[in-house]
Amino acid sequence: MTLPEASVAPVAILGGTFNPIHNGHLRSALELVERLGFARLHLMPCATPPHRDAPDCPATRRADMVELAILGEPRLCCDRRELARSGPSWTVDSLQELRAEYGPQRSLSLVLGCDALLGLDRWHRWQALLDFAHIVVIARPGWQLPEQGAVADWLTRHRAAEPSAVQQHPAGAVLVLELRPLDISSTEIRALCAAGRSPRYLLPEPVLDYIEKHQLYAAGIDF
Ligand code: ATP
Repeated sequence: MTLPEASVAPVAILGGTFNPIHNGHLRSALELVERLGFARLHLMPCATPPHRDAPDCPATRRADMVELAILGEPRLCCDRRELARSGPSWTVDSLQELRAEYGPQRSLSLVLGCDALLGLDRWHRWQALLDFAHIVVIARPGWQLPEQGAVADWLTRHRAAEPSAVQQHPAGAVLVLELRPLDISSTEIRALCAAGRSPRYLLPEPVLDYIEKHQLYAAGIDF
């Protein structure tokens, strides 16, 4: 596909705990870049997740793993902005900052997995997210879109039928996309490490080396 000019091409943001980043995140990010023509996709590790227990693994280590995972892929970048802020890492604050940086015309899209979408109405100022960005929902193995409740109603109101809504407007639409399903989760990788089993090939080798070097998910692991 022909990419739109970098100065006007859409930009995406994939936030997460990335504890650790894995091939499910990375393959989805790359497919999104190529399917929707994003000039750049920010992988944005969360410092202090407001909606789940704080990970044992420090945010700086999780961000280091993101950096290692994307070496050599210039369309993906590691965005450490939430590590620099104190207090809970509200996504809406990050989107507001990104909107100020990219200006009012640039198309920005926040990427969420289906699991994240289901709890969206518990996010701080969730109704304001679409003021700053589109939301692209990745249909994830084993998850379904909400069928009733506040998020289901919101989805009905804002859902776009075509990717062009995301490419041609700065913010305000929800696009649901099916990407190649890779049934990988950070939870499973941590569990494998804790059980002394290898998570190799579920995540990039430099990330695995980093986990081993810093003994992140189990004491004395040797893959
Ligand atoms: P955990 O198992 O610790 O909950 P996770 O694997 O779900 O972690 P997160 O860092 O919480 O990873 O996810 C960040 C974002 O990436 C979320 O929006 C999540 O839905 C999405 N995501 C996670 N794993 C995949 C996958 N295999 N395919 C597509 N999207 C994914």
